[in-house]
Amino acid sequence: MAKRDYYEVLGVQKNATDEEIKKAYRQKAIQYHPDKNPGNKEAEEKFKEAAEAYDTLSDAGKRSRYDQYGHAGVENGAGNYGADMDINDIFSRFGDIFGGGFGGAFSSIFGDGSGSSQQYANRGSNMRIRIKLTLDEIVKGADKKVKLNRFVACSHCNGSGAKDGKYNVCRSCNGSGKIVRTVRTMLGQMQQVSVCSACHGQGKTVATPCSHCHGEGIVKQESEISFKVPAGIGEGMQLTVSGKGNAARHGGINGDLLVMIEEIPDRELIRDGNDLLYTLFINIPQAALGCTAEIPTVEGKAKIKIAQGTQSGKILRLKGKGIPDVNGYGIGDLLVYVSVWIPKKLSKDEEKILKKLEESENFKPNPCSEDKSIFEQARSMN
Ligand SMILES: [Zn+2]
Ligand SMILES: [Zn+2]
Repeated sequence: MAKRDYYEVLGVQKNATDEEIKKAYRQKAIQYHPDKNPGNKEAEEKFKEAAEAYDTLSDAGKRSRYDQYGHAGVENGAGNYGADMDINDIFSRFGDIFGGGFGGAFSSIFGDGSGSSQQYANRGSNMRIRIKLTLDEIVKGADKKVKLNRFVACSHCNGSGAKDGKYNVCRSCNGSGKIVRTVRTMLGQMQQVSVCSACHGQGKTVATPCSHCHGEGIVKQESEISFKVPAGIGEGMQLTVSGKGNAARHGGINGDLLVMIEEIPDRELIRDGNDLLYTLFINIPQAALGCTAEIPTVEGKAKIKIAQGTQSGKILRLKGKGIPDVNGYGIGDLLVYVSVWIPKKLSKDEEKILKKLEESENFKPNPCSEDKSIFEQARSMN
């Protein structure tokens, strides 16, 4: 079955804010809650579908990749929601958005209600790195490779931590993986379910620990990770490389690799959103006579024509010569800001020529409305 559009799943607009997405997900989660729809397979599927959509749209990096590449862009992440995923896993992953405001009725599912402090016990931790990108990489997108020292599944025991693959039933929770406590609250007696700390929710403990990983199921190892950086990405944005963080103890879901983007400033072109800015200096005769000038662009050097009588401060807009939008909404422009350079010292001859020009009637400033608007343009650039 073809996957539905995530925005459609949550019933929000493409430009929805984080808050709107969170709100929409919360509504869907309540509507399709398994407690409200006991034994209803369709509701359960809808519930999982909404969780998957929220997982992508609530993460800036995943969302931008989804916007750009569709489901293919976030495929790894979506894989976490296969048919075999336990519905309680979804709650423990997203419990934080429900916070304490959900009321007592759901607290049995959301653990102790403190949400964010409760993490899925069998999920590896996320790793964070920073990468620096040149303007060229930002314009074209890039394939990056990084070497990371991270936890991976132990190859001797296949990540189980058990020497011969043998386990004992956990004695703390009798194999359920959960500890159920009955607590009194203002709303009456309530059942609190928490993950068994002795077996980390697995319901079993290793019989003989694997000697290679000391029963942990994970070992630290250097690995090379490749990932794609979409064109148009910018300073401070974060990419999520699903499943490339640390492996979990005793098998389970890997954490993610979170990649923070830094830009290396270009020597000549200044980024302004998706536009690029360049200041072109020309001399007085070039401005008066017109000329051909060389400018840097993201595709290399280019020649542009400067018309006769160009004023200092004039901005030339080169359409589509900027940076592609990270969400696929078009390409920015290159704005060339023309600045007429005035020499600070003059030779006797130059002085003579300029004195003569100064007296010329034609050289008296007589700006037309277009010339005046240059100052408005310049102001809007800052
Ligand atoms: Zn246990
Ligand atoms: Zn091992």
